[in-house]
Amino acid sequence: MAMTKSDKIWMNGDWVAWDDAKIHVLSHVAHYGSSVFEGIRCYATRNGPAIFRLDDHIKRLFNSAKIYRMEIPFDREQLTKACVDAVAINALEECYIRPLVYRGYAHVGVNPIGTPIDVAIAAYPWGKYLGEDALTKGVAVKVGSWARIAPNTLPSLSKAGGNYLNSQLLKLEAIEDGYAEAIALDVNGYVSEGSGENLFAVVNGEILTPPSHASILLGITRDTVFTLAQDLGIKVREAILPREILYIADELFFSGTAVEVTPVTSVDRIKVGNGERGPVTRAIQDAFFAAVRGESADRHGWLAHVPRRAKAAVGAAAR
Ligand code: PMP
Repeated sequence: MAMTKSDKIWMNGDWVAWDDAKIHVLSHVAHYGSSVFEGIRCYATRNGPAIFRLDDHIKRLFNSAKIYRMEIPFDREQLTKACVDAVAINALEECYIRPLVYRGYAHVGVNPIGTPIDVAIAAYPWGKYLGEDALTKGVAVKVGSWARIAPNTLPSLSKAGGNYLNSQLLKLEAIEDGYAEAIALDVNGYVSEGSGENLFAVVNGEILTPPSHASILLGITRDTVFTLAQDLGIKVREAILPREILYIADELFFSGTAVEVTPVTSVDRIKVGNGERGPVTRAIQDAFFAAVRGESADRHGWLAHVPRRAKAAVGAAAR
């Protein structure tokens, strides 16, 4: 899965050529996982590229940093603008945006006090996370043997680099065992989330999803699903889910910036429903793609359009 490079990456306020966007090997982050980050998608719409729920992602980035006492040396407006500019300067239409805040190079040692807080924002083309077919055909998943991070160990509401060591254990196990993804249980044995996505179950026409105290990241796509379901008149609520709900639910689906809305069609080789994408999942998917592509009215103010004029201006300044 080679990356498609773009031109420039924003680093601490400067535009740096992709191949030069480097950090020192003794940076704190490389040793102790001390970063917080975001994953954001920008979609092509009739009115040019539009970044989905950018304000909410930037808000979460600052909250993630706050939990770890990381003082970001830029304000929300500056980082929001840098994300928009990153799409424009690289002349991208559809892309992924990755803001990263990390403890940089000062000294080696766990104590983070005195390390600089560095910020980088990259934007680059990116396709479907679980493959082209996943959205229509769904994915086969397993329940991972690793539990999700416990609430009194690592805070799941912070989207921190270190949390993704747990995600990597889950993902590696899933791939090794021939599955697309793993679902983690929390330390109490209840359903938590996927390695990088939230999970929803459709039971008796109602949509259920684990609450914030089930060691999940509060996904922005998850929140989007809540709103879209309400708009469609489908009941949605948080609920503690025992593992076996995964086997007897009528439908299951993942939500996340990377997976978008992806049906889960089997768990541990047990078919979910009839093993195909279900009607509720389909309805949520349709509403989701209409929203992100600007095909439905932006009633919730979710789209941040990348101004065409800014594109020309930023492009000119960079030359
Ligand atoms: N859970 C985890 C662990 C994640 O990494 C992600 C992706 N950021 C999500 C859930 C989904 O969050 P979002 O919808 O904001 O992308």
